[in-house]
Amino acid sequence: MRQVSIQSIGPSVLGLPIENYQFTPSPHIKSKRRLLILGGVHGDETEGVTVALGLLNEFLKDYPYAITTSLIPRFNVDGVLLKTRSNYNGVDLNRNLPTKDWTPHCDNPRYFPGPKPLSEPENQALVTYLDQYQPHLILSLHSWYPVINVNGECLKEAEILQKHTHYKIEKDIGYPTPGSLGTYAGLERNMPTITYEIERGAPLTNCLKLHIPAIQAMIRAMGELN
Ligand SMILES: [Zn+2]
Repeated sequence: MRQVSIQSIGPSVLGLPIENYQFTPSPHIKSKRRLLILGGVHGDETEGVTVALGLLNEFLKDYPYAITTSLIPRFNVDGVLLKTRSNYNGVDLNRNLPTKDWTPHCDNPRYFPGPKPLSEPENQALVTYLDQYQPHLILSLHSWYPVINVNGECLKEAEILQKHTHYKIEKDIGYPTPGSLGTYAGLERNMPTITYEIERGAPLTNCLKLHIPAIQAMIRAMGELN
């Protein structure tokens, strides 16, 4: 049995809802752990949005887990509609969070961090939501070269994803990412964060077949650690 509540944590720059589907276990299960899954931080990373929506479909059919999961499948909803990496203001939302190392400088407009930290409404909504929800783990679905990037204490969960996907786990992707969710939540706010980079360009049917069982196994295991 599952209970689902739907709310908007938004709005986006365009005034659209940032939909959040929160699934809670049956009332007799004492759920302590909370997971947040984000898709579409970068609007052009279709693989991550697809897997997030695939998970939503599975959870709506059945939610047999012992933890609470919040699923935001299209975080950068304007970018998803426009198929752009950035939000409607041209800001890379994964460089705009208020980390200690935030900087206005960027060599490549792809990574434009915005005029100041937390300037963007999507990130303002996310930070407010993180304060309220206090997740024990954040899983952010992107696409690039296949890698499971961990920030904070989430190696056990990452290893379950790895068992299913054979993706490598990296603590450091080799360059600084000021303003990113991994740095902000994972390193600075003690909310361990997995940035899950699904293989870019992989057929979407393969993405669903490979990653949904992997993430479901991770959620089951989190319930056993409850
Ligand atoms: Zn990305």
